[in-house]
Amino acid sequence: MRCLKCRGVAAVEVRRHRAAYCAPHFLEFFEAQVHRALTTQRMLRPEERILVAVSGGKDSLALWEVLLRRGDDTTGLHINLGIGDYSRESRARTEEFARARGARLFVADLREEYGMDIGTLAEASGRSPCSACGLSKRYLFNKMARDGGFTAVATGHNLDDEAAVLLGNLLHWNMDQLARQAPVLEQTHPHLVRRVKPLYRTSERESAAYAILRGIDYVIEECPHSRGARSLLHKGVLNSLEAASAGTKQAFYWGFLDRLAPVIRAGGPPALHPCRQCDQPTTEEVCAFCRMTARAAARLNARTPSLP
Ligand SMILES: [Zn+2]
Ligand SMILES: [Zn+2]
Repeated sequence: MRCLKCRGVAAVEVRRHRAAYCAPHFLEFFEAQVHRALTTQRMLRPEERILVAVSGGKDSLALWEVLLRRGDDTTGLHINLGIGDYSRESRARTEEFARARGARLFVADLREEYGMDIGTLAEASGRSPCSACGLSKRYLFNKMARDGGFTAVATGHNLDDEAAVLLGNLLHWNMDQLARQAPVLEQTHPHLVRRVKPLYRTSERESAAYAILRGIDYVIEECPHSRGARSLLHKGVLNSLEAASAGTKQAFYWGFLDRLAPVIRAGGPPALHPCRQCDQPTTEEVCAFCRMTARAAARLNARTPSLP
């Protein structure tokens, strides 16, 4: 295999583009894809203060690296979910990445802030760990961004993530979630910070290749809670389709963005107002995060035997 740009020996194949690149030209390709995502979707405005959600995995660290190289104004936010060795490793890799680049990093600790790690919170609230984790992260990203005066939150969701979420949403006809699935979630309420996904054009494999070629030391292990998760099942199905016909995933997700998303969103965004308890934007009276933590706390209190 030869590099599309220089005809040198290729290091990374990008089958859906029917292309392969040597290491330097792959780095250029990946960064150009992120740049294209940022510009064609108008993700960033001038003087944007970006809070980058960093887990310590390949996607978020690759994203942060590209934004730092572009000279964007970024600060990292890492949330310690309290998942044993996995969380300790994730935090250490993230801190090392930031230290080596002189980048600003905030670390929030779920147990310190809310008295529960993600496993306890999920179990006591009756949610799956992935659902409790997703909800907690979205909540904390917005809260920390608002408190810190940031104007955008950037996350490392890639093409594989977005296609798998889309498949799950379609299989269950989650119309509310379908209406919200987009590379950019605009600020539709003063308490809501814009959310952008600059990696939506590139795959999981490409994030890994980028991180490795840039010498980024990321956490390779998957979260132990993700074993058997629906999202992995959906990714597996899409990977089989992709193996049979390269480009299927991209056509599936981009086709949704071009054709179906505008139709679903025609009614405009849902009306948001501040949560009665925490002031974060919600469509309900009390937001889903406050309801989840309250339910978990009530269950845990009921379980604790009272002292005589
Ligand atoms: Zn080349
Ligand atoms: Zn709330």
